[in-house]
Amino acid sequence: MIVSVKKGTDEAQIQNLIEWLKSLGLDIHRSDGQYDTILGLVGDTSHVDMDLISGLNIVSNVARISEPYKNANRKFHPDDTVIDVCGYKIGGGNFQFIAGPCSVESPEQICSIARDIKAAGANLLRGGAFKPRTSPYAFQGMRDEGLKLLETAKKETGTPIVTEIMDLSHLPLFENVDVIQVGARNMQNFELLKELGKTDKPILLKRGLAATMEELLMSAEYIMAGGNSKVMLCERGIRTFEHYTRNTMDISAIALLKEKTHLPIIADPSHAAGMARMVRPLALAAVAAGADGIMIEVHNDPAHALCDGPQALRPEEFARVVKEANAIREIMTKF
Ligand code: PEP
Ligand code: MN
Repeated sequence: MIVSVKKGTDEAQIQNLIEWLKSLGLDIHRSDGQYDTILGLVGDTSHVDMDLISGLNIVSNVARISEPYKNANRKFHPDDTVIDVCGYKIGGGNFQFIAGPCSVESPEQICSIARDIKAAGANLLRGGAFKPRTSPYAFQGMRDEGLKLLETAKKETGTPIVTEIMDLSHLPLFENVDVIQVGARNMQNFELLKELGKTDKPILLKRGLAATMEELLMSAEYIMAGGNSKVMLCERGIRTFEHYTRNTMDISAIALLKEKTHLPIIADPSHAAGMARMVRPLALAAVAAGADGIMIEVHNDPAHALCDGPQALRPEEFARVVKEANAIREIMTKF
């Protein structure tokens, strides 16, 4: 349920209303928007008397929210959420490129790619240390050592780091990580999501291989219900009947999620296509659809990459995508 409080209402009256609603056993999510102050009621609202609240002279509107996600719902929080990662903002008109290899492989590899992606215009460095691989015989990542190498690259270039957590027990190792990624395969690892809800780190939550948009939003809700509202959603392609591409990039999800939620939406065209030559067109389409950022896999030697080489862009190819994406953004804000 949402309660819209009239513009210009005395703060003391708003506080009284909040206290009374809390006394009914509800959590209150407050959003001071451009027009009204919106109070989102989270919890069992079945016993709340809507007519009683509507009758208050400071209230302009009361409505029930049919969607099962509350904190993530744009109706609760009409303005875009802006997430600040070490001074780099994402959301609410702020756009960022996140780039780097699928996995951290060596100090030379990660530091050289970090320098290249930064020079090309990316402010955030990605790189997997713990890798979710389909085969147990495939490279599993450099694990703790990989996290340390990401920190070294950050020290050298100043780029905040984005890396995937695969298991709850690894959380203490992620203290110096700037954005914790939850991979597609863990989107519904609810115990992990609950624990991340207790941290204050920005979370990049990737859409599951066969997850609906509502399921993705419900996973974000798990993190937010725990108290962490710094969640970014990532469209990375879903599994369909199509097999010419690794996954099917759901461009409509980008535009639709922007309506449903105030959280920033990041697009990952690399995992969607699975082919380097498809990354550029999909990245540009994602920008045009309204994404708040793009995450692209970049490798200095794709042919010898230990993971996801076929979909990795070379630094110079990435630099071109950045230029074109920025040009599209410019056109979009012009008219
Ligand atoms: C990745 O970002 O390298 C990754 C494994 O992504 P996903 O979880 O989307 O497959
Ligand atoms: Mn990858």
